[in-house]
Amino acid sequence: MSRAEPTVSDVAELTSRLVRINTVNPPGNEEEAVHALAEYLDGYGLEVDIQPLAERRANLIARLRGEQEETGLVLSGHIDVVHPGESRWQVDPFAGEVRDGRIVGRGSADMKGGLAAMAVALTRLAGEGFRPTRDLVLAVSAGEEVDTAGARLLAKSRVLAGARYIVVGEPTGLDVFIAEKGVLWLRIVAHGRTAHGSMPHLGVNAVSFMAEVARRIDSIMNGIEPNEILSMPTVSVNTISGGVKTNVVPDRCEMEVDMRIVPGQTAEGIQATVESLLAEVREATGLAVETEVAVLQNMPPVQTPADDPLVATTVAAARAVGRHEPRIGGVSYGTDGAVLAPALGANLVIFGPGKPEQAHQPNEFVDLWELDAAAEAYAQIVRNMDVAVG
Ligand SMILES: [Zn+2]
Repeated sequence: MSRAEPTVSDVAELTSRLVRINTVNPPGNEEEAVHALAEYLDGYGLEVDIQPLAERRANLIARLRGEQEETGLVLSGHIDVVHPGESRWQVDPFAGEVRDGRIVGRGSADMKGGLAAMAVALTRLAGEGFRPTRDLVLAVSAGEEVDTAGARLLAKSRVLAGARYIVVGEPTGLDVFIAEKGVLWLRIVAHGRTAHGSMPHLGVNAVSFMAEVARRIDSIMNGIEPNEILSMPTVSVNTISGGVKTNVVPDRCEMEVDMRIVPGQTAEGIQATVESLLAEVREATGLAVETEVAVLQNMPPVQTPADDPLVATTVAAARAVGRHEPRIGGVSYGTDGAVLAPALGANLVIFGPGKPEQAHQPNEFVDLWELDAAAEAYAQIVRNMDVAVG
């Protein structure tokens, strides 16, 4: 016989329900979870739209109409999750089990818990007859974990046009994050000239060239001032391949570099710096390689000014519901916010239940009290932002 768990709150119940629907991306299959959310939101006078993304994939947009028919504040979250991995789970990652005051399961912290808290906040506000000045929107995206395809569609389709403020419910442990590093992935290809391995002087060794590029690549961030929230940008050479055989001088080498950049840096600026580095290495090694630089991914960094009313309002709500003094920080990875905020011209905060370090881990969990606290905080943020800025 199993031990009886105390009755859980509506936020916990909805979180469990969402965890039980497998939205591992790829392939995502977010549609079923989106329908479950739509069903939950039904009956509160909200306008609920399902926006198809691909087969069995969809976004959801739920709108509480304001006095002025334009979007004001957006509560944003993604409904896809990453693969649970091969081992080390003590429970079924898709059971949504409640254990010891927590929900354990894939996506409990990242970020079905945050989405559930947002949905509950929305229904509570609607149920109380709250009427915002401008539309309050819950925007649920598919595809965040792979290519932010859902957020890109939300931005492109203009359904959130005019939005001024975005609260992203990614797990922050109820701290308040106001900046995201940008993501810039580059592929660098070097073309040399092949030759017999016994006569290397007849070839142009593309691997030797790239080895020197890899050794010097950190220098492209020289002279960058640390950001007050995000600190320094990072550079990591994460794949490198070249050569075909032990006795053949390689005429091709390819390297992929993951950079996490800070406000003030741009893809164009960094590409120019990389080109200078390649010229410098050509010069230093005497290797006459031809090079190509391709941008594989480019999400700009985002940062909300610390004196923005959304920051003060979120910190106050976090303080009211939390169990520690909320910290203002930033994240070194990109969220849907990095797609939505620049596209909409909106300011964002990232604030949600669950520890950030639980994301993508085995035995991922979210504390029940944090789920309830987050729902309370979201409702408070909505009310107080309405008073502060309308
Ligand atoms: Zn996430």
